Amino acid sequence: MAVVSGGCLCGKVRFEVDEFSSGIFKCHCSKCRKAFGGASSAAALAPSAAFTWRAGEAGVREYRAASGFLRRFCPDCGAILPQHLPVYGAWWVPVGLLDADPGIALEHHIHVASKAAWEVLDERTPQLPEGF
Ligand SMILES: [Zn+2]
Ligand SMILES: [Zn+2]
Repeated sequence: MAVVSGGCLCGKVRFEVDEFSSGIFKCHCSKCRKAFGGASSAAALAPSAAFTWRAGEAGVREYRAASGFLRRFCPDCGAILPQHLPVYGAWWVPVGLLDADPGIALEHHIHVASKAAWEVLDERTPQLPEGF
């Protein structure tokens, strides 16, 4: 896979991913829906060593809920940004931030038990009621 670059809406924060270690998963939990303002989040995992910040890392802000749910975001445009998951040895990368097709497919819908009532899911992608 070629290196894929990505960044926030305003361009202040930039990064590169050398390779992904998972397919794309859309999370339909209530927290992701709030954080993204949409039906779900859409992200993939990248090995820890395969992710590099290229600009703006120092300014990245974060919100941590009492439950431990964490989301990092650009202080200027509010775009949700990648975050490191030490337990998985991986970065969680929102794929909507990428500048080009990462060449990986949508593989799972997760937390569909709490999806929005108005959302219609495709039937060909596996659906998990909770997380992995
Ligand atoms: Zn930004
Ligand atoms: Zn979620």
